[in-house]
Amino acid sequence: MALLTVENLRTTFRTDDGPVGAVDGVSLSVDAGQVLGIVGESGCGKSAMSLSIMGLLPKSAMVEGSIRLGDRELVGLPGGELRRLRGAEMAMIFQDPMTSLNPVMTIGWQLVEAVRLHQKVSKAEARRLAIEGLAAVGIPSPEDRLRSYPLELSGGMRQRVMIAMALLNRPRLLIADEPTTALDVTTQAQILELMRELRREVDAAIVLITHDLGVVAELCDEVAVMYAGRVVERATVDELFARPQHPYTWGLLASLPGRNLASERLHQIPGSPPSLLRPPAGCRFAARCPFVMDVCRDDPPPLTPTGRGTAAVACHLAQDVRDREGARLSGEERA
Ligand code: SF4
Repeated sequence: MALLTVENLRTTFRTDDGPVGAVDGVSLSVDAGQVLGIVGESGCGKSAMSLSIMGLLPKSAMVEGSIRLGDRELVGLPGGELRRLRGAEMAMIFQDPMTSLNPVMTIGWQLVEAVRLHQKVSKAEARRLAIEGLAAVGIPSPEDRLRSYPLELSGGMRQRVMIAMALLNRPRLLIADEPTTALDVTTQAQILELMRELRREVDAAIVLITHDLGVVAELCDEVAVMYAGRVVERATVDELFARPQHPYTWGLLASLPGRNLASERLHQIPGSPPSLLRPPAGCRFAARCPFVMDVCRDDPPPLTPTGRGTAAVACHLAQDVRDREGARLSGEERA
């Protein structure tokens, strides 16, 4: 059974100019021990979706649809119950560790509080768990680090402390929002290795939000590609890289460093995503798509199974055209 099930999620922000539909009818699920990547450009709705799942959106946001953690419905759950679940059963790590860490309290104080908020243990036991948590994420001399303030640590160390804090209570669901974007390449590799270990040891379901398909290839089992608030393609990672089906995914793949381009048309995706204040009626990628047809401007393409496992795509192009273009792209990349 899926640990996290999201069905027809709609997240709308009320603004002075009118409602902005940041997430528009997204459905997805992730099992324990599985890593699901959510990929797309900034503003595509991936962070709004993760904050909707965690119940961390401001009051100006309206969340509709269904988000279930196991068999518990989270949409409409009172704030107190959501707070109890956060940190205990689900946790989130952010690009900027200072989103979670308090600069004026020591690492030790923050970790001990995080344990005691959700577990009935003595201070000494909470301290032991905090040291164990820091050691598990590769912090040297964890006992000494308890006395440090966040700003005394390097960016990579702060990221590790935040991950340790998120995992202290062994959550069943971990959402990681661009966890490596701000880090140098070496630290990035270490954090990805750490997440691989977590998945092996804790058997948590992990949702990894990123704009980087390279990170997805390293870590994820399945991937959902989002564009302008909707999922436009969903597949296993192997399937996505072997037979990408959506013109937007082709553009993302073509822009991966070190890859050859299958088609000059896809070298760069021209233009920018549409305003979600007044989104286009048909396919939201139409204005940037080199393959656009009349039907694309009028009818939004539904997310439709491709017939290969769990893969699905939202595009009006005929299957044989998508297969040919996708194979050409991945074929030339391998060349
Ligand atoms: Fe391009 Fe049309 Fe497919 Fe949209 S539906 S991605 S515009 S071909």
